[in-house]
Amino acid sequence: MPRNRSGRSVVQSAIDIKRWQQQTPTVVEARPARCPACGVASCPLGGAIRLQGHGKRERQVWGPSGPDQRPEMLTVTARRYRCVSCGAVLLVVPRGVLGRRLYSASAIGFALALWGLVLATAAEVRRRVAPAGIVGDSAVTGWTTLRRWVRDVAQRRIFAEAPDPVPRASLRQRAASAAVALAASADPTTRALPIEHRAFLGAAHAA
Ligand SMILES: [Zn+2]
Repeated sequence: MPRNRSGRSVVQSAIDIKRWQQQTPTVVEARPARCPACGVASCPLGGAIRLQGHGKRERQVWGPSGPDQRPEMLTVTARRYRCVSCGAVLLVVPRGVLGRRLYSASAIGFALALWGLVLATAAEVRRRVAPAGIVGDSAVTGWTTLRRWVRDVAQRRIFAEAPDPVPRASLRQRAASAAVALAASADPTTRALPIEHRAFLGAAHAA
């Protein structure tokens, strides 16, 4: 179970970022069915509620909202719950928002596909994925964030379902194999779309 810096569990809702942004779900709508820490049912039939609303937290979500959209910095209001059985505090975020990461899962999947499969330069990937005005590493030497994502995928820190890359694969080959797996997990109706678009869509579910 992913944990954020303060030790709270991060749970992805079935509600996607766009719908969540239009209207923050109520405590009832966003409540997980079970406590991910102890497994207790959140609303047992005829019993008291075990996962109680515990306030809200603002979360930033970076990246484009679609493959052809301009990258942006969104803020979503995540919901917190406290389990009265085990004391765990959960943060429920929209589907496709990753614990401890500013970029959306789709933005990262898209970046892996652009770099690994479309063979875009790191600077071009950055232009399509990173919101303008982000101060960071030099576009001349590449985009450190991109390389870090590829290493994180290889170490199963994101997209843990991605297949094992070939031993001694280059970073770009690793990005490619992860992006192919993400694209394959997108809805079959998207098959006619370019592979980087499918990686964008598949990543929101694979996270
Ligand atoms: Zn619990």
